[in-house]
Amino acid sequence: MSRIGIPRTLAYFIYFPFWKVFFEELNQEVIVSSPTTREIMDDGVRDAVTDACIPIKLYHGHVADIASQVDYIFGPRLVSVRKHGDFGTETFCPKFLGLPDMVRLSMDNIPEIIDVRVDLKQGKDEFFKVCSRVGVFLGKSEKEVKKAYHRALKVQKRFKKLLYQNIMPPDAMDILFAQGERKPLIAQPDLQIAVVGYPYVIYDDYINGRIVSLLEKENVKIYTQDMLSDKIMNRQARNIPKSMFWYFSNRAVYGALHYMQQKNIDGIIHITAFACGPDAIVDRLLEIEAKRHGQVPYLAIMVDEHTGDAGVRTRVEAFLDMLRFRKDKS
Ligand code: SF4
Repeated sequence: MSRIGIPRTLAYFIYFPFWKVFFEELNQEVIVSSPTTREIMDDGVRDAVTDACIPIKLYHGHVADIASQVDYIFGPRLVSVRKHGDFGTETFCPKFLGLPDMVRLSMDNIPEIIDVRVDLKQGKDEFFKVCSRVGVFLGKSEKEVKKAYHRALKVQKRFKKLLYQNIMPPDAMDILFAQGERKPLIAQPDLQIAVVGYPYVIYDDYINGRIVSLLEKENVKIYTQDMLSDKIMNRQARNIPKSMFWYFSNRAVYGALHYMQQKNIDGIIHITAFACGPDAIVDRLLEIEAKRHGQVPYLAIMVDEHTGDAGVRTRVEAFLDMLRFRKDKS
């Protein structure tokens, strides 16, 4: 049995259920890095190239966190996860494409990286082929891989179903794996806000300055793009003249556009990452669209390694006050 390390960041928040079940079915031990802390952040900043965006730096910190405990780091090279045919070419951002190389070149004394290439636009069976390559690497037979693959797909489906019930990914994982209690739904929220952005920023409560905890404390019901079905997302893709090239950026845009059209949504918060090239476009686009959709209140918050809870709290509280005032007046 090998110990496989999975960094608790980037694609973890969306694909972890699949890979956890897949590896465990293949009799491997899965070790996840700790939730982000100041130390993990500092390690990432130290190890990564200086001009990387903050999530990529953080990824290095998470690799450092588990490096000494595992035999392999699972760090797939994410290229594409769907054919985006009608809407233009779409891949993950270039930093995802080069991530395994970046980590290898920047960090010493790390275990071997399983950096299988995930490029699902290549064809219908491509995902199974990816899993087979991982299976072969671990010395498993095709039969074993097939069984693990189907079990993992089932769990990933259940995970997605939970997200569609407006449950945040970390809470959905608790329900699936930690027999966690379902967080009680906010029965009568004061406000309903869509929080859009990259999953690795929205669901990492450390890096985003604890926005999600703050909103929940303020009795705000939160919606994110990951709670929307593919059908809704594709409908929004049709509504804009041109999609962007990057998968996660497109999801943030489509999600925001959908929520801007919902009467129950009081405002939109876009959490954006410092030194993210694609976000410079996403943020401007959302600002324009918020105005076009009848002045939907819109707040952009940029996070970086120095983001403190206090600064974020002040801005979010001011935004909430404005939304409450607006609601009382109407
Ligand atoms: S999309 Fe932006 S934040 Fe995400 S990895 Fe690429 S550059 Fe970094």
